[in-house]
Amino acid sequence: MLADTHCHLDMLKNMEVALERARTAGVGLIITIGIDLESSQKAVEIAHQYDYVWAAVGIHPHEAKTVREQTYKELEALAQDPKVVAIGEIGLDFYRNLSPKEVQIRVFKRQIELAKALAKPIIIHCREAIPETWSVLEETDGFCCRGVWHCFPGDVNLAQRCMKKGFYISIPGIVTFPKAERLRRVVKETPLEWLLIETDAPFLAPVPMRGKPNEPAFLRYTAQKVAEIKECELNEVARTTTQNACKLFGINIS
Ligand SMILES: [Zn+2]
Ligand SMILES: [Zn+2]
Repeated sequence: MLADTHCHLDMLKNMEVALERARTAGVGLIITIGIDLESSQKAVEIAHQYDYVWAAVGIHPHEAKTVREQTYKELEALAQDPKVVAIGEIGLDFYRNLSPKEVQIRVFKRQIELAKALAKPIIIHCREAIPETWSVLEETDGFCCRGVWHCFPGDVNLAQRCMKKGFYISIPGIVTFPKAERLRRVVKETPLEWLLIETDAPFLAPVPMRGKPNEPAFLRYTAQKVAEIKECELNEVARTTTQNACKLFGINIS
């Protein structure tokens, strides 16, 4: 059984059909992620419709500029839901800079404080902002939340630093792309016990689906690539990464 630890089910064109295909492809656990209040609300609703779907609620750095004081209150209320397993996705994106940098940092810090108060793990989004993200985590003692660095953007060195702090490394479909040598090295050098896998659907479809809208069923290609790199069976990748997800997010599956 595979666990898709990061996707945006509310953004899929035909979610129900995609979920059927996911089940057929062996995806038995899905975490659907919020990027603003509205999508966080939807994530919670979807998680209540399907017993194998859980939710994360949070404000993406792109949306940081829309945050008001009230936003944190509503987010906190949403996060109390029993199907909410994490605060995310939160972080910094200095590649697209859709919100001013200082606003992104402020909103990131506040959400780390929220995660600490609620004792929930965090799901980090980081693009072109590795040193800044690390500094925020140190300043806020955000590492104590535990969590995952989603769509891992770093090298082996960063992966090792994350692991030492109790953070998981999440491997997206990019690992199948011809140019993703650095990410494949991360997979090679990181113990399976510290890896998660994700689709980030509807974005970033893996080869051979690259260019199409991504969906959780395509997680299989990413899992296969990880197995190939680690020279182990697909089953072992599936079992271990699912166990990791259950452990981090406190999910019990029978
Ligand atoms: Zn992201
Ligand atoms: Zn995402």
